[in-house]
Order: sequence, then C-alpha cells, then structure tokens
Amino acid sequence: MSEFTVIDPATARPITTLQRAEVADVDAAVARAVAAQRGWAALAPGARADALRAFARVVEEHVEELAQLEVRNSGHPVGSARWEAGHVAQVLNYYSGAPERLMGAQIPVPGGLDVTFHEPYGVVGIIVPWNFPMTIASWGFAPALAAGNAVVLKPAELTPLTAVRLGELALEAGLPEGLFQVVVGSGTVVGQRFVSHPDVRKVVFTGSTEVGVSVAAGCAQLLKPVTLELGGKSANVVFEDADLVAAAAAVPGSVFDNAGQDCCARSRLLVQRSVYDRFLELLEPAVRDWRVGDPASEATDMGPLISAGHRDSVAAYLDGVDVAFRGSAPTGDGFWFAPAVVLAEPGDRVAREEIFGPVVAVLPFDDEADAIRLANDTVYGLAGSIWTENLGRAVRVSRAVKSGVLSVNSHSSVRYWTPFGGMKASGLGRELGPDAAEHFTETKNVFFATDRA
Ligand code: NAD
Repeated sequence: MSEFTVIDPATARPITTLQRAEVADVDAAVARAVAAQRGWAALAPGARADALRAFARVVEEHVEELAQLEVRNSGHPVGSARWEAGHVAQVLNYYSGAPERLMGAQIPVPGGLDVTFHEPYGVVGIIVPWNFPMTIASWGFAPALAAGNAVVLKPAELTPLTAVRLGELALEAGLPEGLFQVVVGSGTVVGQRFVSHPDVRKVVFTGSTEVGVSVAAGCAQLLKPVTLELGGKSANVVFEDADLVAAAAAVPGSVFDNAGQDCCARSRLLVQRSVYDRFLELLEPAVRDWRVGDPASEATDMGPLISAGHRDSVAAYLDGVDVAFRGSAPTGDGFWFAPAVVLAEPGDRVAREEIFGPVVAVLPFDDEADAIRLANDTVYGLAGSIWTENLGRAVRVSRAVKSGVLSVNSHSSVRYWTPFGGMKASGLGRELGPDAAEHFTETKNVFFATDRA
C-alpha cells in the first residue's frame, strides 16, 4: 500500500495521510460485499427499510461533524457543507421507503399467472469525483442499498474524508459488516478494479467525460450496466422579457457556487442582444458582492479551488480572453481564484470547454431560435436555466434545449425527489427521483402455469 496526503485547499496544509488500497484489497472488499449482500437481500423489506432509516438518523446526528470535515477537505463554505450533509440523510430517508415499494407487475397472459420481480444486481461499485464528495456518493449508495445490493464506494483521492466517515457511520447505525464499504485509492487501480471485477455487477461513475467513456468501454467487456454522470457546459439563457434584476442576482450562484466546480454550473451566459448592456450593468455588482473567503465563515459564498494544479488549469482559460470584470479573492496559501466574467464568441475555448472553475462566458443572441441554437451548440447536455416571463416561450425553449435537468426562472438542479442526469456527452442513465432504486435491479419475469390438466 502506498501513502498519500490529504490537503486543506483553503490553507494548502496537510490534514492527514491515508493508505491507497491495491487490487488485492479491492478483491477482499468485494468478497466481503458478496457475502453481506446475500443476507441483506434475504431480509424482510421492512427490516431493510428500518436499517436505512437508522443510517439516516445517525447521519443526521453527525451533520455538523460531516460538514466541518467537508469544509476542511473540500473548502466548501460551511453553509453549503451543512446542506450537503443534511442532504445525505434526506436521500437515505427517501430511499428507505423503497424496499417496501419495489413492486413488480402482474401481467395478464393466457394459461397462467405472470409476475415480475425487481432483483438486486448483487454488488454495485460507485466511483465518485472530488467536487461534491458526500452528496454524489449518497445518490448511488442509498438507492443501491435500498434495492438489496451491497456497495463498494471509491471516493476521489483529493476528498476521501467524508466518505470514509460515512462508511464508519453505516456500521455505527447497525448496517451489516461488508454491506457498505469505502475503498480509498486511485482511479486506475481501485476504480478500474470495480470495472473489471466479475462480482461487481453494476458501476455508477461520476466524473469527467473522458474517464467515463473508458469506464463504459471496460464495463461493456463484461456486459456490465453503467450509469454515467459526466461533464457539462450548461447555458443560462436570459430573454429580454425576463425579470432582469432577479436573473442577474441569480447568476453568481448559478456558476460560482462551489467555486464553479459543479457539473451543473451555468458556465455559458446567453443574453438577448437588446438587453445585453443593461444585463452586464446589473451583473457587475452581483459579482462584486459574491463573497469569496474562509470556508469556515458563515458569511462566505465561495471557498478556494480544490488544488494548485486545478487552479493553474482554470487560470489558463483567462489567457488572452476579454475579461469584462472579476470578483475578489483572498491572497495567501490556499488555492484562491477570483470569479471572472468573460465576453466570448461561440467558437472560443472559454465558451466550449468545461473549465470547472468560477469563470462564466457571456454571449449575446438575437431571438428565440438563435438562443436555442446556441444553447445546444455544445457536446454536453446536463443542466441549464431559462429566464423569461413568457410562459409559452418557457415551455418551447425548455423542450428544445437538449439537457437532462432544466430550470425556468431558477438555477436549481438537484432535488432528491426528481430525476437527475445528462444527455449527449453529459451522461447515460438517471439518478435520484422515484425510480432510482429500480435502476439498481434487474427485472425477472416468472410465469406460473395454471392450466395444467
Ligand atoms: P475524474 O474523471 O478525473 O475522476 C472521477 C473519479 O474517477 C475519481 O474517483 C477518480 O479517482 C476515478 N477514476 C479516474 N480514472 C479512473 C479509471 N481509469 N477507472 C476508474 N475510475 C477512475 O473526474 P474529477 O476530476 O474527479 O471530477 C470532475 C468531473 O466530474 C467534471 O468533469 C465534472 O463535470 C464531473 N461531474 C459530473 C457530475 C454529474 O452528475 N454529471 C457531478 C459531479 C462531477
């Protein structure tokens, strides 16, 4: 096993060191998961529901601890981190309703009775990125466990601490040993072994499109189903008939939240030409008022970027571009980066690539058709917003934009009650919402002959 150091991105100081698991460790974890899953799936549905409710309660009792851990490991502002930890408990509570509701169908057929069952896959491997370590993990593990699977979870090396703690809390809550295991290590070793291990029967991957494609290709070799939640370059479309004051006030949260390290970041701001100048005037004070600083402070809107390397890659996007204005950021040892508003053309790199930092590209458009064309002028299709007071336009544009998660007069994307996921290069499959537990099952059809002589 090799050792690695976990860094606080707000100070660049080490927090702790952890061991990287090797292939043999993954294989041992999967073997334990296989054994645990048999007993879990054999439990009465109500007993699985109770166990998940108990897990949710223990997470609720540790919201503050988990939040503080995320502040240190990820630099998330404490208000956001509390929301994230609370969200994990809510997701667990929501899917604790699933074991008792995973209903099959009774299908009318001649000569007998036909029934479908939702059978768990067995062991599910979940691979998580560094940007929202707790919440994204829970979108996989809560419905997967509810459907009767065991879970092996690999957090990102940069941000493993809350996932490790959630693994401990699962045991404290009484979940069987081996049912939910957190395996810390590198993507190419641990993540790759989830893909190649024959007993991991489904993989959920959230991360970059490039790695997601290779994970899907590996899963195809074993005919293993895979859910992919990948990158984005989402559009925030502001029409001339919008409430411009509200739309401008919402922009910083839509793209600078989590320092822009958000797959749903509205990193392209499309503004109708007739209100373009006015909108930029309204936007400037909103960006200046966006408070970047100590993530432990309640008053902070945005913390640092996750690493020095990532800050370099974000900064490179500002080379030679037309920066309209910037917000502020602290100086000092953390990986700080002041938000930037860039005036762009559709072909510019800043308008095409996922930067994953607090940089928004502003582009003008002429009319509704032009807005739809520009919004769809990307390989991605994850999220997006449409600002208009015209109901017909809101319906037309939201149906025409090829994205999985859209909001009108809002920039919210994540509600655990509703499906989440991307089109095009942003992913495959959906998480959350009422059907997520079913996505962790295979349908079995059983025909009972009744017409035997
Ligand atoms: P990444 O693709 O580098 O890594 C994601 C995870 O995959 C990490 O745990 C990593 O260790 C692992 N990994 C790396 N190589 C692997 C391999 N060959 N096989 C198996 N696993 C491997 O992504 P990142 O930099 O951690 O996260 C940022 C990306 O995630 C962005 O593109 C962002 O848009 C995307 N993302 C998408 C969503 C969504 O829901 N659509 C949510 C959050 C982040």
